[in-house]
Amino acid sequence: MVEVIPLGGIGEFGMNCMAIRFGDDMIVVDAGMGFPEESVFGVDVSIPDFDFLEEYRDNITAIILTHGHEDHLGALPYILKKFNVPVYASHFTVGLAERKLEEHGILGDVLLHRVEPREVVELGPFRVEFIRVSHSLVDCFALAIKTPVGTIIHTGDYKVDETPVIGEPIDLRTLRSYGQEGVLALLSDSTNATVPGRTPSERAVIPAFEQIFAEATGRIVVSAFASSIHRLQIVLDVAHQFGRKVCVLGRSMQKNVEIADELGYLDIPDGLRVSLGETKHMNDTEIVFLVTGSQGESRAALMQMSTQSYKGLSIEPGDTVVLSARIIPGNERSISRMIGFIYKRGANIIEEKRRLIHVSGHASQEDIKIMTEAVKPKFVVPIHGEYRMLFRHKEFVKNHLGYREENVILIENGDVLELDGERAAIIDKREIKRTFIGDSNFDEIEQDVIRERRQLANDGILTPVITINSATGELELPPEVLARGVVGFDGLNGLMAGAKDAVIEAVESASRAELADTTLLKERVRLGLKRYVQKKTGSRPVISTVVVEV
Ligand SMILES: [Zn+2]
Repeated sequence: MVEVIPLGGIGEFGMNCMAIRFGDDMIVVDAGMGFPEESVFGVDVSIPDFDFLEEYRDNITAIILTHGHEDHLGALPYILKKFNVPVYASHFTVGLAERKLEEHGILGDVLLHRVEPREVVELGPFRVEFIRVSHSLVDCFALAIKTPVGTIIHTGDYKVDETPVIGEPIDLRTLRSYGQEGVLALLSDSTNATVPGRTPSERAVIPAFEQIFAEATGRIVVSAFASSIHRLQIVLDVAHQFGRKVCVLGRSMQKNVEIADELGYLDIPDGLRVSLGETKHMNDTEIVFLVTGSQGESRAALMQMSTQSYKGLSIEPGDTVVLSARIIPGNERSISRMIGFIYKRGANIIEEKRRLIHVSGHASQEDIKIMTEAVKPKFVVPIHGEYRMLFRHKEFVKNHLGYREENVILIENGDVLELDGERAAIIDKREIKRTFIGDSNFDEIEQDVIRERRQLANDGILTPVITINSATGELELPPEVLARGVVGFDGLNGLMAGAKDAVIEAVESASRAELADTTLLKERVRLGLKRYVQKKTGSRPVISTVVVEV
């Protein structure tokens, strides 16, 4: 019997990670990061809670990456620090992984295998074939995982693009040949399952770019995801065609252009790329800036150019700014704010709604149909997406492809889906939390720390200061209570006086043992004060007691 256990990416955007187990062997597909709402509390990213895998420590034989997007690759250093097993991925994905592992200082300690499309890797009872799929990134794979009870196809992220800008189209032939042999389950990308029709080819944006370049009378600034390698190639090509040079700005954009160029995925004509310094001596009509920051990120190049300057460069009247990326849910406000800044500076801005300057990298409903009909699985398991998307994926497959209710299985993170070749059933539900990673370094932030930061932000902090005579155990001075950010504690309405009384009462009713132990005494004061504040104001500030012994 084979078990499929998602650690992340089901019912949420990001953190894609899935364990597949047969007997004593387990492989892990993808190790992605997520971008949680807790960002206001100093959290940059979240990763799956890999502690769950601890009980399988001796069973994990490999990590397989479908492609190099952060939501599939970003947590790789963290899982490898816990479980140092070999990694299998495409050339480009390994290129991205190497940079990341280098930043974490562990590149020398891990084993990275580069695999080609159609290559087969045997991992215990699993026989994994890597199958080329199209996506917004290059060198992406679906996986055909043969197990003793049947074949599982994991699509990775994909769309059906017959005319990609870079590389070969999706390998439907190989997928169909598995379909003819018989496929037990299709684990299938749901990101665009709510979108009718076909997802356009990466090429579809070329006419709009040509038109924008033909019309622009000043500098052109294009912002796209650094990982949208097809898109970057299009911008380079159209710039070349219109006699403009390209200056690449922003750390991740420069990094990805370098890796893609080194590995031969980008075709950059000689002399096309120029440095920021060189652009200073060029005419406006000879320049394209290719920049990071399409999501309105405050530290990225485009936002800085829009508000102040990025390395001396600012948006100016006459510039044409092209936002060639989708809005990731949650970023609407920061993008809208940035667009306002760009208009204020007198530039023209072109967004997705106005011209076809962005296409999705994910399968729409008709792509899902092509994939499902090619693979002809017994069971369809929607993955990669928020619950709404998974649900609509299920509905589509039922209503348009004739699947029965019991053959389309909605799973959630932590579910253990068991497949025995005949039946599919969720046999267990494991609790899988997520781990937060801080802004400033790569350290984990404990759940308690986030809870405390949230509490501080919402309800402020109270600091009772009590001075105890260590000989008598009595209050030496009247207690002080300092309040920061606590609603109602203005010193006028009696709340402060009441809080001090609550502290006095807590100390005076303390037992001998509590008075003798500062930790116990602090907790007693905290509880007494907490009860008082909650009763009076309903708020729950952080209470941090200071005990001074004299
Ligand atoms: Zn992706």
